[in-house]
Amino acid sequence: MTAPAIVWFRQDLRLADNPALHAVRDRPVLPVFVLDEAAMGELAYRGAARWWLHHSLAALSASLAASGAPLLILRGDAVPLLAELARDVGAAEVQAGWLVEPWARAQEAALSARLAAEGRALVLHASTHLMRPDGIAAASGRPYTVYAPFAKKALERGDPPPPLEAPGRLHGLAAPSPGLALSALDLLPRAPVPDWAAGFGTVWTPGEAGALARLGRFARRARLRAYPESRNDPGIEGSSGLSPHLRWGEVSPRQVWHSARSAGAEDATPFLREILWREFSHHLLWHRPEMGREALRPAFRDFPYAPDRALLRAWQRGRTGFPIVDAGMRQLWRIGWMHNRVRMIAASLLVKHLLQPWQDGAAWFNDTLVDADPANNAASWQWIAGSGTDASPYFRVFNPTLQGEKFDPDGVYVRRWVPELARMPARYIHRPWEAPEAARRAAGPGAADYPRPVVEHAAARERALAALRAAARRAPAEAVPP
Ligand SMILES: Cc1cc2nc3c(=O)[nH]c(=O)nc-3n(C[C@H](O)[C@H](O)[C@H](O)COP(=O)(O)OP(=O)(O)OC[C@H]3O[C@@H](n4cnc5c(N)ncnc54)[C@H](O)[C@@H]3O)c2cc1C
Repeated sequence: MTAPAIVWFRQDLRLADNPALHAVRDRPVLPVFVLDEAAMGELAYRGAARWWLHHSLAALSASLAASGAPLLILRGDAVPLLAELARDVGAAEVQAGWLVEPWARAQEAALSARLAAEGRALVLHASTHLMRPDGIAAASGRPYTVYAPFAKKALERGDPPPPLEAPGRLHGLAAPSPGLALSALDLLPRAPVPDWAAGFGTVWTPGEAGALARLGRFARRARLRAYPESRNDPGIEGSSGLSPHLRWGEVSPRQVWHSARSAGAEDATPFLREILWREFSHHLLWHRPEMGREALRPAFRDFPYAPDRALLRAWQRGRTGFPIVDAGMRQLWRIGWMHNRVRMIAASLLVKHLLQPWQDGAAWFNDTLVDADPANNAASWQWIAGSGTDASPYFRVFNPTLQGEKFDPDGVYVRRWVPELARMPARYIHRPWEAPEAARRAAGPGAADYPRPVVEHAAARERALAALRAAARRAPAEAVPP
């Protein structure tokens, strides 16, 4: 047995395929989690993500305690806390997974310098990603800005190395102080705030066991084969539902990759391409740390958004009068997650039809999603808004009614999340404002309270296109179609 080590758990809350833990599996080890909200600043975990983090830490603590190395929980400035801890226990290194968020990279640099000054090391591993964001580049040597060539290059590299086994029994090191009880992190909603997370536990099981169970249900040939179609149907469980588990590193992308490949071989590729969207978004955030705040394309920095609290509120509460959007926003509120197709329609309505800043939508998602991820969220919002380096064509303004009719033709999804429309005939489910009075009455008393659309589609589309064309004119040098 050699010198003790600290394993610093960050966004890799699992035992299996955890390279930091694997590296010290035969040595005395002290596992630590530090909640450092000051370092995170505006990206501090919020709302639904905190609920998830609480339960994920509870699961991790239980697994580590059962393995012989209980988790030490701390709160405060991670750099001095970890440096002092390393000194106190005589650790030769702190082992951890690197992250792409700007605040986390600053933390890594500061801790590394602090430890080095004392003859210790910060050893960082690829724990939450398939590849280092600076380990893949376009032919020009520059970072990728467009997804398709990024994914092509990543797929050409072949499958990543196989995942590592979970360590067996660990040699736990006594902590110099007892640390905090999980409840002291204050991650759960508490009175007088209503328990908005009450419905989350009916759908989700945070923690490594829950992640592996969900992966096991999804990584089957039939589901992978159906995925290209089923992933677009919000009324069924057609996608994996792994996003919060991946967000918190309860399962690694390598584990997901290899499970899917073993189950589906080539049938797994469409699904693996989505895992690569995650890698791509993280690659973008690494190279463009301003992505969460600022339009990546300069032409969009003065975009004439028209902030309106009432419109934003109607969207947040699922009261826009467009049933597919309202269903999505209510699903988000109830279970902390929204189907991808509906995220796109709801986000497009906010930034294009309602001309609200994408940053306001991203902030709401950051508060309410259990999978809230600074890279995936910002990249997706910028893609929808047209301001990203790889953006949806600016003239694509989703018609929320037609999108609803295409992807939820019988209204299964809308009926589930907008119960006042549950009895609306299928031909009006996505356009209830056109339902004759008799059909509305037959649909029940709630249907009458359902709002009319907050904007008229055709007029809102024209207004959005005019603003988008003007943005293009303001910066003619940029590659935005006229
Ligand atoms: C406006 C908007 C905001 C979003 N915000 C987030 C967010 O905060 N966190 C988040 O994880 N995803 C976000 N997404 C991407 C996507 O909607 C979710 O990852 C997906 O719905 C999760 O469901 P799933 O696990 O069943 O996905 P699956 O279809 O099963 O995909 C597997 C995994 O691939 C990754 N993935 C899939 N699509 C994307 C994508 N477009 N970008 C990046 N990674 C992707 C996710 O990790 C996902 O779990 C956002 C999309 C939009 C349009």
